Amino acid sequence: MNRKNLLDQLAKDHTLPFDGFVELLAHPDEGLQAHAASLAVETTQQYYGNKVFSRGLIEFTNICQNNCYYCGIRAGNENVQRYRLTDEQILQCAATGYQLGFRTFVLQGGEDPYYTDDKICRLVQQLKHNHPDCAITLSIGEKSRESYERFRQAGAERYLLRHETATPAHYHRLHPPSLSAENRYACLHTLKELGFQTGAGFMVGSPGQTPEDLARDLLFLHKLQPEMVGIGPFIPAAGTPFAQEPAGTLNETLFLLSLIRLLLPDVLLPATTALGTIDPRGREKGILAGANVVMPNLSPKSVRKKYQLYDNKICTGEEAAECIVCLTKRIESVGRELAVDRGDNVRYVKMKEDHYCV
Ligand code: SF4
Repeated sequence: MNRKNLLDQLAKDHTLPFDGFVELLAHPDEGLQAHAASLAVETTQQYYGNKVFSRGLIEFTNICQNNCYYCGIRAGNENVQRYRLTDEQILQCAATGYQLGFRTFVLQGGEDPYYTDDKICRLVQQLKHNHPDCAITLSIGEKSRESYERFRQAGAERYLLRHETATPAHYHRLHPPSLSAENRYACLHTLKELGFQTGAGFMVGSPGQTPEDLARDLLFLHKLQPEMVGIGPFIPAAGTPFAQEPAGTLNETLFLLSLIRLLLPDVLLPATTALGTIDPRGREKGILAGANVVMPNLSPKSVRKKYQLYDNKICTGEEAAECIVCLTKRIESVGRELAVDRGDNVRYVKMKEDHYCV
C-alpha cells in the first residue's frame, strides 16, 4: 500500500499495523505531511469545532529528586536556581488565571518530596473550593496507587505523565537505572483505572530514537487510549548529559501531531511551548497539524526562567495577561478561537453522562 493510502486507512480505522507506522515514519515527505495535516484538521473539527482550549500552567516547584538525562531541572544540574511557590502564590496564580478566562489549571513540578500527599491534596481542595467550575490537572510524576487515589478524591480530575518512550531499551537510554519503564507504564494504567483524564506523551527526536520506537509509541497510545497526549521536540538542555545532542525537528513533530490526531481522534493535543521554541510560529503550525490545546504559563514572572526543562524556552519574560493576548492573536491568525471552557475530552464527558443515566 502506498503511504498516502496508509494515511487514509489510519484516518478511517484509527490504527495501523506496526509496519505501516514504520513506513510512514521512516519516509516522510512534504506531500505526505500536508495530506496528514489536512486529514488531522478535518478530524479535530469534527470533534471540537473551531475551539482551541487553554490550560493555565503553574510550575510550582523546580526541585526534583530524579536525574532524567534530558531534563534541565534534573537533581544533578547544579546551575539551576531552585524555587518552590507558596500555597498563597499558587492560589494567586489561579485567581489571576481565572480572571483571564482560564477554566483549567495544571499544577506541574518536579518530583519534590517536600510536597507530601497531604500538601498536594490540600492545594487541590483549596483550588476546587475557590474555582469549583475549573478542572485541576496534576503533573507531578510517578506516585503510588494510594497517592493517586487520594489526589482523585481531593478533586483532581486530570493527570499528565508522559510515557517518554514505549521501548524499554530506549527508556533506559534516557533515564538513570533508578527509574524503570515498567513503573512508568504501570502508573499510567493506574491513572486510567482511577478515572483520571490521563495524558501520556513523548519527545520527538530524543537521542537514540528510531522510527520503530515511534511506531511503538503510537501503538502504546492506541492501547492506552489516553484523553490527552503531550508531544514536543527534544531540545537539549545545558547541564545535562544530552546538552550536545541535536534537537528534534519541527516537521517531524508536526507530522507526529497529525498521526496522533488520526490515531486518537478525540484526543486533547497541545501545541507545546517546546514547539514554539524551535520555530517562532511553531504553535500555530501545531494547530494546523491537528493540535487543539495551548498551555500558557501562569507562574509568577520572577520564577519563569528557573523552570528551564530545555534551553531558550520562550514566554519566560511575560506576564500571564500578556501571554493570553499574544496566544489569542496567534490562534485567531490560523482561523481558530480560544475557548473559555474547561475543555474536557468529549469521550470522558460522554462516559460521565452515560454513568449518570444508569
Ligand atoms: S523529567 Fe521530570 S522527573 Fe525527570 S528530572 Fe525532569 S522534572 Fe524530574
